Amino acid sequence: MGKTTLKEKSVETDVLCIGGGIAGLMAAIRAGELGARVVVAEKANSKYSGSGATGNDHFMCYVPEVHGHDIEPFVNAFQHGQQGGLRHRSFIRTWLERSFEIVNLWDSWGIPMKYNGKYEFAGHALPGKPMLDMHYAGKDQKKILTEQALKRGVEILKRVMCFDLLHDEEGVKGAIGINTVEDELITFHAGGAILGTGSVMRLYPASTPAWLFNTRLSPTCVGDGRAMAFRAGAELVSMEIPILRCGPAYFARAGKATWAGVLRDSEGKPVGPFVTKPDTKYGDPVVDVYQDIFLDYKKSGRGPVYMDCDGLSDEGLDYMLHWLRNEGNVAILNHLEEEGIDIRKNPVEFRSYEYELFPRGGIYYNNEAATSLEGLYAAGDEFFGGISGAAVFGWIAGENAAKLEKDASPLNKAREKTQVDEKRELLEEIRSREVGPGWKETNIALQQIMWDYAGQVRSETLLNAGLAALQRLKHKARASIIAPNPHELMRCLEAFNLIDLAELVIITARERKETRGKHVRPDYPFTNPLMEKLLIVKKVDGKPVMEWREIKR
Ligand SMILES: Cc1cc2nc3c(=O)[nH]c(=O)nc-3n(C[C@H](O)[C@H](O)[C@H](O)COP(=O)(O)OP(=O)(O)OC[C@H]3O[C@@H](n4cnc5c(N)ncnc54)[C@H](O)[C@@H]3O)c2cc1C
Repeated sequence: MGKTTLKEKSVETDVLCIGGGIAGLMAAIRAGELGARVVVAEKANSKYSGSGATGNDHFMCYVPEVHGHDIEPFVNAFQHGQQGGLRHRSFIRTWLERSFEIVNLWDSWGIPMKYNGKYEFAGHALPGKPMLDMHYAGKDQKKILTEQALKRGVEILKRVMCFDLLHDEEGVKGAIGINTVEDELITFHAGGAILGTGSVMRLYPASTPAWLFNTRLSPTCVGDGRAMAFRAGAELVSMEIPILRCGPAYFARAGKATWAGVLRDSEGKPVGPFVTKPDTKYGDPVVDVYQDIFLDYKKSGRGPVYMDCDGLSDEGLDYMLHWLRNEGNVAILNHLEEEGIDIRKNPVEFRSYEYELFPRGGIYYNNEAATSLEGLYAAGDEFFGGISGAAVFGWIAGENAAKLEKDASPLNKAREKTQVDEKRELLEEIRSREVGPGWKETNIALQQIMWDYAGQVRSETLLNAGLAALQRLKHKARASIIAPNPHELMRCLEAFNLIDLAELVIITARERKETRGKHVRPDYPFTNPLMEKLLIVKKVDGKPVMEWREIKR
């Protein structure tokens, strides 16, 4: 095989949306309807991509006619809950205040937001407490949002992965991407960019480690946005605190809150105090407040834990299956059917999945979806998870990016050439190498390091050893990784991004000298109230610099 030379293409636009997921499409729709020229660069196909690809069924929202006109108790409840602790109040308030506007929009576009003509709240709540999760039928949401974007003149480029931002002292002015089907380098010149590349999967071993893509959220969302933002100088936040989610064993899939059964031990005893029989309204909320339950049961020899739907009425079963189908859980349901497994007669084993950064660690964007860099916005799982957060902040990002000056000074040509040439050289080299490790080996090595040195137990010595191993891996991967085709070139770039993020996880984990949530430091074994702060990291003069910031309550 001779040297591979990449073709080149240049794309001009006002607003570049990187990622055509929920946030990216909402941003594109809004910027498009406000008159901006908009391009969406999507790694896959926006009709079926990302974590919302096959549907979702819970949309968190505050509906004045249901919840009453005082929003503050809801802001309080969220801020004190699992996801809200490390966030500013103004951020939570903006999200909740604008959530109902999006519910109405989606309904008008054909995404059914009502059930039997009414708003239906269920799941993710404790009995007797206010409910913010509204059921909606999201099965076709990606096709519908794609249609809405196209209607407003948005250009959607599928199979295009962006991997670096173009920027100068004035801010972000575009990005560099590749076509993942052909050997082509794409330079985007834009007035501003919106990052909506989703969550970070594949950083830690999956619950079935041999199957890299058996992840709870979309396995093609690997934190490209966070890595690009960091390299360009934007602030990231809370990278050190992982989170654990759960669902059916061996079949990783989000959607726990839609299961209506009771979580029981192998003797049939409920493992939580909240429900004793199946309940389509609450499900079993024990895991919303006790994330470690599956691990603790296993460690103490009391496992496994099962989702037991025995006792669910026919009507209740239909109700649960309806939402599971809308939530992209069709593959599991089909599998149960093919195996002749009756969900009411056979409890389904549940367990914890891999460590995730979502919904905490990510790009530090504010309630205007602005990052710390001029011309750069971000939304969705880049920092704040869930479908409603993605939709609301995507919308806000599009609104604000559309206001950017259209004839802002372009990127200095010499500077652009340096940034693009350096990348092209690396990509052509990777594509031309004939022998070396592939992206899979690199990804597996990375996961191994993260699990061994920055996983369930972290300490100064473990983290230091992990960082040294990561740096060796980074150097080796850059020098020897191979990509026999453009698709695998994308996977190599993903692996590079994951390694960059892994370094940040380790560096920030070393800095947080306390135990908080799944950030467990036996050398600092308690949660220090004085550290209930945001840990920010950004690149200054080529190095990560950290800063603690107060949370505005
Ligand atoms: C089965 C399942 C059920 C769920 N149920 C719910 C639910 O009921 N309620 C809820 O609130 N949340 C739910 N979630 C989570 C929810 O889907 C996500 O929070 C939401 O999709 C986030 O939107 P996003 O736009 O930030 O990211 P995504 O929707 O994941 O979109 C990111 C997009 O970016 C693209 N991309 C990534 N990197 C690049 C790159 N470098 N260049 C170009 N494109 C790139 C990806 O291909 C993808 O299309 C569920 C998730 C799953 C998987």
